Amino acid sequence: GAGSPHPYVHADEAKCDQHMETFLRCIDASGGSSENGFSAIKMTALGRPQFLVRLSEVLVRWRRFFQQLAAEQGQAGQPALAISLEVEKLQEALAKLGIATKEESQQWFTGEELGTSGTVDLLDWSSLIDRRAELPKLLLVPNMQTRQLEPLLSRFGAEEDLQMQRVLQRLDVLAKRATEKGVRLMVDAEQSYFQPAISRLTLEMQRRFNRDQATIFNTYQCYLKEAYDNVTVDVELSRREGWHFGTKLVRGAYMEQERERAARVGYEDPINATYEKTTEMYHSAPTLSCKCLDYILEEIKRSGRASVMVASHNEDTVRATLRRMRELGIHPLEKKVCFGQLLGMCDQITFPLGE
Ligand SMILES: Cc1cc2nc3c(=O)[nH]c(=O)nc-3n(C[C@H](O)[C@H](O)[C@H](O)COP(=O)(O)OP(=O)(O)OC[C@H]3O[C@@H](n4cnc5c(N)ncnc54)[C@H](O)[C@@H]3O)c2cc1C
Repeated sequence: GAGSPHPYVHADEAKCDQHMETFLRCIDASGGSSENGFSAIKMTALGRPQFLVRLSEVLVRWRRFFQQLAAEQGQAGQPALAISLEVEKLQEALAKLGIATKEESQQWFTGEELGTSGTVDLLDWSSLIDRRAELPKLLLVPNMQTRQLEPLLSRFGAEEDLQMQRVLQRLDVLAKRATEKGVRLMVDAEQSYFQPAISRLTLEMQRRFNRDQATIFNTYQCYLKEAYDNVTVDVELSRREGWHFGTKLVRGAYMEQERERAARVGYEDPINATYEKTTEMYHSAPTLSCKCLDYILEEIKRSGRASVMVASHNEDTVRATLRRMRELGIHPLEKKVCFGQLLGMCDQITFPLGE
C-alpha cells in the first residue's frame, strides 16, 4: 500500500523482475475488471534503492547548482519556472568557478533547443543531464555546504547507467501492457531521497507513452516545499514536448520519517512546516501562485492535455476540487479529473462521488 514506509530490499535484479511480473498481473486484472482502470506501481520495487538514491543525488545537486547560479544573477527565491539565466553571464560564472572555460561550456548551450534565446531556464539546464555523455566525465559542481568543488557524477558511473537501462526496460514492459489493456499506470511517490529519480524515470515514460492520452501518471506530494515548482516545471516540459500530463496529487505519506531523517543527517526538512501549509500548497492558498491542484485544473481547461487523480480522503479537498471544476467549466464526463481513495478507508466520500 502507499503508506508502507519500507522500500523493498533487493537480493538482486531477479527480484525486480519478479516484482514486474506481479505488476503485470495487476495490470491484467485491472484491465479485465473495468474500462479505463488504474494500476499502481512502486519504483523501489523495480530498481535497486541505492541506484535511485544516487540518481536522485545527481539530479538534486544539478538543480541546486542552477539555483546558486540564479542567485548570482539576482534571481534567488523566484519560482523555478520564472528563472531565466543569461548564457553569457552563466558562462562567465562557470569559468570563474573553474568548472569550465567559455570554450568548453559553449558546446553545452548549442543544442537544438538551447542557446537560441540567449537564456537558459531550468528545463534547458536539466536537459544537460540527459546529455551527460557529452559532459566532461569529471564535471565539477560546488558542494553547497563545504563550498568545495566536487565531481557531479563520481557516484554515478557505468554500473548506474546500466541499472537505469534495466529499470527503463521494466517500465517499458509495464507501460506497453497498460497501453494494450487500456489501463492507466500510476507511479507512486516515495521518500524524498528516491523521489527525484522516480519522477525523472516516470517522465521518461510519459514522453513515450502519453503522446495521445495520459496513460502514465506521476505522483506529486503537496507536503513537499518544492511541490509547486515540481508540478509547474513538469507541466511546462509536457507542453514543450507535446505529451499529456497525467498526475496523481497527494499530500504525502512519509512525513515523520522525512523529518526524522532530515534532523538526523542534518539537512533542511523537505516537508512544509504545518498541515495548513500543505493544504495551501494543494488547493487552499489565498493567491493562485502556489496551488498545485489549481495549476493542473487550469492546464486541463486550457489545453485538454492533462489529467489528475485527486487522491485524498479529505472532504474539503474533494469539495474544493468540485468547486474549482465548476468555476472553470470542466465537466466530469470529460474524465480528466478523478478521485482516488484507498479501499474501505473513506466510504462516506467514495460512494457519493461515484454517483
Ligand atoms: C488513492 C491514494 C493513493 C496514494 N498514493 C500515494 C503515493 O503514491 N505517495 C504518497 O506519499 N502517498 C500516497 N497516498 C497517501 C497520501 O499521501 C496521504 O498520506 C493520505 O491520503 C492522507 O492525506 P489526506 O489528504 O487523505 O488526509 P488529511 O488528513 O487531510 O491529510 C493528512 C496528511 O497531511 C499532511 N500533514 C499532516 N500533518 C502535517 C504537518 N504537521 N505538516 C505538514 N504536512 C502535514 C501529511 O501528508 C498527512 O499524510 C495515497 C493516498 C490515496 C488515497
